[in-house]
Amino acid sequence: MNNKKSTADPDNSIKSQEGADSRRSFFKRFGLVGAAAAAGGAAIYSGYNYEETKPNRDMVKVLTADNKLVEVPRDQIKDVKVDVARMTKQGREGLAGHRWVMVIDLAKCRNARKCIQACQGAHHLRPYEYHINTLTMQESENTAPYYMPKPCQHCDNPPCVAVCPVDATFKRQDGIVLIDNERCIGCRFCVAACPYSARMFHWEEPLVVEGDKGKEYNIELNVPQKKGTVSKCLFSADRLREGKLPYCVSACPNGVYSFGDENQDSVTNGTTKETHRLSELLRDNGGYQLMPELGTKPRVYYLPPKNRLFEFKEESPIANEKV
Ligand code: SF4
Ligand code: SF4
Repeated sequence: MNNKKSTADPDNSIKSQEGADSRRSFFKRFGLVGAAAAAGGAAIYSGYNYEETKPNRDMVKVLTADNKLVEVPRDQIKDVKVDVARMTKQGREGLAGHRWVMVIDLAKCRNARKCIQACQGAHHLRPYEYHINTLTMQESENTAPYYMPKPCQHCDNPPCVAVCPVDATFKRQDGIVLIDNERCIGCRFCVAACPYSARMFHWEEPLVVEGDKGKEYNIELNVPQKKGTVSKCLFSADRLREGKLPYCVSACPNGVYSFGDENQDSVTNGTTKETHRLSELLRDNGGYQLMPELGTKPRVYYLPPKNRLFEFKEESPIANEKV
């Protein structure tokens, strides 16, 4: 959010210390500190010289941070649409200088499903809605099965982006493929185009309604959700902006995930916090991508499932989860 305080006031330029004192006394009296709802959409109260209010000014009702309804002059209300546009623009551009990559070590996955739970919690998904899921794989009758976590592969050459008719899904400069649910028309062309079945359609009303009421849409989190649109793994773009590892990477107790920057040739394990050279990790462990023959150029790498579980039990530790 833009915290810049507006000083524009056609009648009373609020620049002097006296003006600042007046504003402070107003805040003290009413506790008016945050966002407010006004006619025509969301708005933010930006400062108001209470003592110099004129009776014939155009007044609007706004809510204070402690839920009191007060009247303030309309010219003191600042539309926040510009801030939302800035956030959306930032979200579409991505983090300059980075090329994010994920490495998933299949030898370490025990289907703990903490990654799934962390992801579902962050993105307000139901237990049967997935941005990342752990699949049970088996190549032949004679080989032991193994678990394979599968998020969006954040393809460098993403077929999903090419088919979107309204530019709702796009690839950023840091390699992350995102969806703008405000633009998405729910045609599901992208769902059909993705060879990794990484996208999901929101058939139901959002899981969290009350808690997300009044929240601005975050393009890097896909929250609040919108029924009738598509979502998928975002590589936790909101966490990367804060310098943190993705939700799934941090939540795994078994050291399955490493995440980092291809430009720096380094990835950090979310469990052990050890940092490795990406090129060495892939070379020394036989790293590979899913279906490279398609030319999609995934940004997710897998390390092969060595030391497979021979006493393999297929069960979900989440009681109410549909698998
Ligand atoms: S995995 Fe699917 S949804 Fe993700 S970028 Fe590639 S094609 Fe698009
Ligand atoms: S479902 Fe949404 S994101 Fe996917 S192609 Fe259609 S408009 Fe684009």
